Amino acid sequence: PSVPEVEALHHADVARLLPRPTAGSDKYRRGVVGIAAGSARYPGAAVLAVAGALRGGAGAVRYVGPAADAVIARFPETLVHAGPPAKAGRVQAWVVGPGLGEDADAVRDVLASDVPVLVDADGLRLLDPDAVRARSAPTLLTPHAGEAAALLGRARTEVEAARLASVRALADRFGATVLLKGSTTLVADPGTGVPVRADAMGTPWLATAGSGDVLSGLAGSLLASGPAARDAASAAAHLHGLAGRLAAARGVPITAQEIADALPAAWRGVR
Ligand code: AMP
Ligand code: MG
Repeated sequence: PSVPEVEALHHADVARLLPRPTAGSDKYRRGVVGIAAGSARYPGAAVLAVAGALRGGAGAVRYVGPAADAVIARFPETLVHAGPPAKAGRVQAWVVGPGLGEDADAVRDVLASDVPVLVDADGLRLLDPDAVRARSAPTLLTPHAGEAAALLGRARTEVEAARLASVRALADRFGATVLLKGSTTLVADPGTGVPVRADAMGTPWLATAGSGDVLSGLAGSLLASGPAARDAASAAAHLHGLAGRLAAARGVPITAQEIADALPAAWRGVR
């Protein structure tokens, strides 16, 4: 039987992937997501990644990095640590990279863990491909076209002209799941025989500063609840896109915070 090259997730598929607490749940069993993000220069990226993570269904969000004061001021429910990720305590998934600046040690630390890791933004620049390939747990990379081009050593225009081939090439090169952002979001796994997931739930209003930081927190939070990286990534893209649409229906332009604030309505919308 032939495998389709591309497949889409519908609302009902996404609803099935969303973690819902049961009578036996406690916050640890729901999953703890660690966020290693932010810098003196970009504290807001940490706040927005945490905002996405708090709306992704994990039982707790652990933040590690220099923006702890900004994170706590906005989200007192966050657990914060000033030290390196390796000393922060147990998490079920890590997000590393949004607004991270030049903290290559944080990326190395997180990649050395044995839990799923999502790498975005500055983390993608600081990435050692061998460290990714050596991992035993899943890795999810979430570049936009420019970041994908840098990872592949190609021009951005080349990636934009061949998005499907580019996302597949990246997945193969890193041995990782790759989510390529854009007006249609593509999610690829290494190897052939697995269809690429495509999601066009979003709106061009999502092209706003901090939007991707919300997505990475959201996807990492879903990852902490246990699904395969491709499922967490494609469900996150769908929910983020729907949240953007719902926020835009209330008035445009939208801000990244408003995308995060619309995530509960997006959860309701996919049921
Ligand atoms: P970033 O570039 O990291 O801030 O991420 C931007 C987010 O907005 C990603 O989720 C993209 O998929 C989404 N996005 C950017 N441009 C568009 C567009 N033209 N249409 C739909 N979604 C978009
Ligand atoms: Mg980004």
